[in-house]
Amino acid sequence: MDLRPALVPPGGRIGILGGGQLGRMLALAAARLGLSSHIYTDSADGPAQEVAAFTQIGRFDDTAALSQFAARCDVVTYEFENIPLAAIDAVLATRVVYPPIAALGVAQDRLSEKRFMQDLGLATAPFADVASQADLMAAIAAIGLPAILKTRRFGYDGKGQIVLRTLDDAASAFDQLGSVPAILEGMVPLAGELSVIAARSRDGQFASYDCPANVHRAGILHRSTVPSGMPLAVLDNARTMAERIAAALDYVGVIGVELFLHQDGRLLINEIAPRVHNSGHWTLDACLISQFENHVRAIAGWPLGSTRRHSDAEMVNLLGDDVADWHKLAGGYDTAVHLYGKRGAKPGRKMGHFTLIRPIS
Ligand code: AMP
Repeated sequence: MDLRPALVPPGGRIGILGGGQLGRMLALAAARLGLSSHIYTDSADGPAQEVAAFTQIGRFDDTAALSQFAARCDVVTYEFENIPLAAIDAVLATRVVYPPIAALGVAQDRLSEKRFMQDLGLATAPFADVASQADLMAAIAAIGLPAILKTRRFGYDGKGQIVLRTLDDAASAFDQLGSVPAILEGMVPLAGELSVIAARSRDGQFASYDCPANVHRAGILHRSTVPSGMPLAVLDNARTMAERIAAALDYVGVIGVELFLHQDGRLLINEIAPRVHNSGHWTLDACLISQFENHVRAIAGWPLGSTRRHSDAEMVNLLGDDVADWHKLAGGYDTAVHLYGKRGAKPGRKMGHFTLIRPIS
């Protein structure tokens, strides 16, 4: 089996593990480059398969099906973080997978992610390993309150987290979280949140977009704005941190690095996403080459495209019933509406987003 990561020319096939909206936007970007997308998903109706050349429905623990899928593709990527590492291993037996599996391993476990940052000398919120209620009480004694108890694995969009303000809140918190391995994180007094969306090519070229300022509601991204209005030194520092993380992981593809700006001016790494990122969706409308296209370019071995921003932008997520406003939004002169084709607008479900575009300031 030839595992060398050959350049994927126009006409080639990009395999995407996962069928959500990120897969959909990746497939659309790949199509612009003359590449076709093959989706592997465990769900019969997802946003990505509607716009892809081919879809294979299968479980992520079905190694035979995954190898069969991999053999059909020239290079394989993934669009969600909670994909089992064994599924990536199954694909790796046949094809190259980008971003590297090590990046996924780090991102899947909040404890290994924090330790990875520590080893790189990058600051994070104070944290402690919590494997029992007794550990939790010891962690509170060390870190103080308020703090957030988070599951080590499978958390996303604020799920798997409990905010602890008093010792009473903590009394049964470990049980409430399901008695699963967790970490306690000190609550950071935030001056703001930002992210770095960056691409790294197979030969180590690194290119980042302007950092958006991000506002979350109930742990879910609500809005991303560029320019962020944050001091240039902060933005430069954030970019340098992201570049160090990407280099240490020998990263290929687009990475999202979420950061906290502490009220005392320090920048702390919150978490990394080894994939295209919600806070980079504005790049579809405000940059010549979007995060999605740059991800495809990187994994296919193409030159990275420009990350330059030609407009100011504000991206707002459409969660649940927000999507009912599609008609009004579609009439906005400076508004680009992106709908993911999902059926069933459950509360908190990402149904689409819109981006307001203004001339660059
Ligand atoms: P996460 O899923 O860990 O990224 O958390 C989602 C959101 O919750 C973050 O983007 C912040 O708005 C908030 N949050 C999480 N952890 C902390 C923390 N240690 N201090 C302050 N805010 C936090």
